[in-house]
Formats: sequence, C-alpha cells, structure tokens
Amino acid sequence: MLIVMKMDATPRQVEEVVSTIEGRGLKAHAIPGAQRTAIGITGNLGVVEPAHFESLEGVLEVIPVSHPYKLVSREFKSDGTVVDVGGVKIGGSELAVIAGPCSVESYEQTSRIAHKIKAAGAHILRGGAYKPRTSPYSFQGLGREGLEILARVRDETGLPVVTEATDIDVLDLVAEYADMVQIGARNMQNYTLLKRAGRCGRPVFLKRGMNATITELLLAAEYLLDQGNGDVVLCERGIRTFADHTRNTLDVSAVPAVQRISHLPILCDPSHASGKRHKVLPLARAAVAVGANGIMVEVHDRPAEALSDGPQAILPEEFQELMDQLRVLAPMVDRTVPALV
Ligand code: PEP
Ligand code: MN
Repeated sequence: MLIVMKMDATPRQVEEVVSTIEGRGLKAHAIPGAQRTAIGITGNLGVVEPAHFESLEGVLEVIPVSHPYKLVSREFKSDGTVVDVGGVKIGGSELAVIAGPCSVESYEQTSRIAHKIKAAGAHILRGGAYKPRTSPYSFQGLGREGLEILARVRDETGLPVVTEATDIDVLDLVAEYADMVQIGARNMQNYTLLKRAGRCGRPVFLKRGMNATITELLLAAEYLLDQGNGDVVLCERGIRTFADHTRNTLDVSAVPAVQRISHLPILCDPSHASGKRHKVLPLARAAVAVGANGIMVEVHDRPAEALSDGPQAILPEEFQELMDQLRVLAPMVDRTVPALV
C-alpha cells in the first residue's frame, strides 16, 4: 500500500502517519519526492484497510499496490535510483563500467590488470576473493587475502571495488573491504544472505539467478530494500536456455522489462552470459544499445593462466576497443561514459 501525502503536508504530519503505520505492527518507508512525500507500507497487509490512513491529516490518497514487489517498483518511487559506489554513480545518464579478473589470484595479477583497465577508462574493479564454483575441486578463491589485495589495489588505483560474498559467514568481512558487495547468481534466492546483505551498510550488486524470472529477481531485491538498503544494482548475467552454442543466454529483454517496473539500475554481464571471449564485445554493445546502465566484464592479461573463467576473459586491448566503442554508442541511447577524475 502507498500513502501519498498532500503537497503542503508538514514533516509532523508525515511523522504522524509513520507512527500510525508502525503502531499497527507494519513497516513505513518514507520516500521524499520533488513535489510530495509518499510513504510505502510493507508487512502483513491482510487486515489493513485504506480507511485507517485516509482520515489522517495531510494524507492525499491511499493506493493499494497490486504487484508482489513494492519498494523496488516505480509505483513507490518513480525517479530512477542512482547508487554511489565509492564515488562512482550507477544509474542515471552515465554508463558504469565494471571490469577485472574473475578471481583475485595474486597481488601482482590484480594490480597489473587493474592498472590496464583503469587506463582504458573502467570505473570499478571487480575480482572474486570467495568464488562459488560448480566443482569443489576448482579454485575457491584466496579468501581474506584476496580482500586485502583488492583493498591494496584500490588504494593504488583509486578504483572502487566490487567483490562477492558467497555466504553469511563471510558477508561482514566482505562488506568491510568492498565498496559494493556482490550476491552471485547462485545465491539470488538465498534469503538469509539477502536479509543480511540488506543490513550490511554497503551497496549490493545482485545478479539474476540463471533460472530466475524477472519477478523473482525483483522480489530478491525487495528483500534488500525491505531491510533498509536502497542501494541496489541489478545484473542480467545470462539465463539457462536450450542454446548450446553459449554458456548462458544473455536476456537483453530483461533490461527494458526491469526498467519499466523498477527504479533500480540494471547492468549486463556479457562474460558470464556467453562464456566465450569472442562473444563478449558484441553482447556488451547490445547491452548498452538496449539501455543497460552499464556492464560488468571479465578482463585478464594472461587468460590461458587464469585460475577461473579464462576462456571468457577479454584481453586488456580488447577492453580498450570496447571502451572506445561504448563512447561512440552511448550518445545514441542518451548516455555518456564518464572519465574518472
Ligand atoms: C562472478 O561474477 O564472478 C560470478 C560468479 O558470476 P555469476 O554469479 O553471475 O555466475
Ligand atoms: Mn567468472
């Protein structure tokens, strides 16, 4: 349910509505807008009648919200959300480019790659310290040492860092080091992890599960917002289909579908979507053309030696070529590619 306040409603009247909502054991989410304040209500709405709120001072109207997702929806907040990740803005008219290796393998490897992607114009460094691997025998990540390497490379380059928390056991530690905490595709419906991530005090990068619908993705994001974390960036990273020429299928149609329903920014990850180096640039261009707020790509300067996802890593030269192409493409979709200051 959404309560829309009158344009001249006073802060006291807004507080009064909030405390009435809370007095009924529900959660109130005040959403200040340019014109007026709206207050979203979540919780068990089974017994709540609009009439309970309609008569309160300063209330213009009470709107029942028909979708299962509420806080993530444009009904609750019509303006697009812009998430600040260590000074880099994700959302709005600027494209955000996240790049880096699949895994943090060593300080030298991460530092080398970070300097190369920075020179090409990347905005945020990626790299996994905790890796969710399909096989228990594959490289699982350097753990805490990987986080320390990322922090050191951030200090060297000035690039904010996104890295994955695979489990509630490591979430707080990851949040201490990362500028944005990644929740991976395999964990998109790990509700305990989502609730904790909603309280971790950092922006969250939420990847779409490989078999998740748009509704399921938005409901996963809803867990984060319901815990008070509005700094959420969504990521389409490819879904399972019958296609066998590619690791997953990049669902570019998810981008306009999500943007119509939700105010949250959405990026595409053409690396995990395709699994093949030669498909990454074309799919990254498609993502920007379809209106994504940015991309996440895996880059490695020695992909044959990479400890994970080498076949899909593009070379730094290819990443440079991609950035040059995005600068040409961006204005066609009313976007810019900001240069790091
Ligand atoms: C990753 O970004 O390193 C990753 C494991 O991605 P996904 O969760 O999309 O598979
Ligand atoms: Mn990877």
